Amino acid sequence: MTVEVYLSENAFIGLLVSTIEVYRRECFGILLGHSTPDRVFVDFAVPYQTATRKFREVHIDWKRSARVEEAVRGTSRWELVGDYHSHAMYGPLRASTELSTEDQEYFTDRTVGIVVAINDIRRPKRWSYSQGGIISGAINGYSIRIAAYAKRNGQIDKAPIICPYAVGFMGQRRASPRAG
Ligand SMILES: [Zn+2]
Repeated sequence: MTVEVYLSENAFIGLLVSTIEVYRRECFGILLGHSTPDRVFVDFAVPYQTATRKFREVHIDWKRSARVEEAVRGTSRWELVGDYHSHAMYGPLRASTELSTEDQEYFTDRTVGIVVAINDIRRPKRWSYSQGGIISGAINGYSIRIAAYAKRNGQIDKAPIICPYAVGFMGQRRASPRAG
């Protein structure tokens, strides 16, 4: 079953700010929202404070999030629906949204994972849906690609992202007769 991931304006902006803030390091955080069996609504992306360390340690820290989850459950109507992190361009190596071996190893069942790939780019690029349910665009000289994955019954699958806020940007640009 394909799981669709709905990104709110808050979550979309949160992912962008988180990713750009620590570039060329990688950011990490939690996703708050709510879910049905085939849809996950991500309302907020909250950066995880320990994320400035090495990637492997970051993932181990994630296990401490049981207390984060309890805090979320105890104080809000949101659920902890998953996590996110960025893949940053490293030297000449361009970052992709593909899950690394470690990403797959530390993927918790019944959650979603969002990967934001950030690379240098010279030209502006409008926000759009790309192949495989990814959304991509550019902001202030950074190329951004956002992909989501869902793990159900031990299996990790790509989860198409739906982000009306980003589509709104695109819709406006498409209204121009010169756009192409
Ligand atoms: Zn990764």
